[in-house]
Amino acid sequence: MKQVGFHVGGNHDAAAERQGPHGQYLVIPHIESTPLTQERSDARTCVVDESLGENENEEDLVLVQCNTCLDGEERLHQVIAERGKGDGIDVRVRCETCSSVHVVELRPPRALKVPITLSDGAESHTDSISVDDDEIIAVGDEFEHDEQRWEIRRIESSTHDLIEAPAGEIRRLWAVRTDIVRIKVTYTKGETSTSEIWTVEPETVFTADATIETPRGLWMLRAIHTGRGRRLRGSEPAYMIRRIFLHALSRRR
Ligand SMILES: [Zn+2]
Repeated sequence: MKQVGFHVGGNHDAAAERQGPHGQYLVIPHIESTPLTQERSDARTCVVDESLGENENEEDLVLVQCNTCLDGEERLHQVIAERGKGDGIDVRVRCETCSSVHVVELRPPRALKVPITLSDGAESHTDSISVDDDEIIAVGDEFEHDEQRWEIRRIESSTHDLIEAPAGEIRRLWAVRTDIVRIKVTYTKGETSTSEIWTVEPETVFTADATIETPRGLWMLRAIHTGRGRRLRGSEPAYMIRRIFLHALSRRR
């Protein structure tokens, strides 16, 4: 499962993010220069000088798509000039591979607020999350929110549900808590019912019409209530469950 880069403790590895003069983000790859601490023979000095000559200033290299290179892949480009344009920046670059010069338009991503329904077992609430409008969100993506762990389960567009979509096309997200869920438990013995809340791992499976080990001993799990109604048979994972109904075991012989 991939991690979505929502604006909560974003961790970008290989490439470091640098904020440009106009608030835009440039992705600058880390480039390790040849270490200078090695024993210096004449030959080695020569090699070091040569590599320094190639990368005069590491900060001026950017990794962007090259439209001239046949495969259209991302290549290292030398920055020749930068010019502000609106809230973005136009960067004139030269491809390190094919030496062609082109202009890259860097524009700051627009931050969007996407409505999200967060289900924590029995409880659901509505909130919104901030994402870049071009960020791709997929079912199964995990993220942190309010110091809890959640997973995207459903992506609603204006017409139908999607498996993945850029944030700008999403009308609402649905997520379930994945570190822990709370389910309500009702014990019924004769005329008396009592309730409590269990916190369990989301994938814990509960089976209706079966005995269950509880803090109050063995009980019969009579029914499972999910968001879609009550079922008297079959199994459900905890993250689908709002409440389970337990009945005292009948004293049959
Ligand atoms: Zn190229």
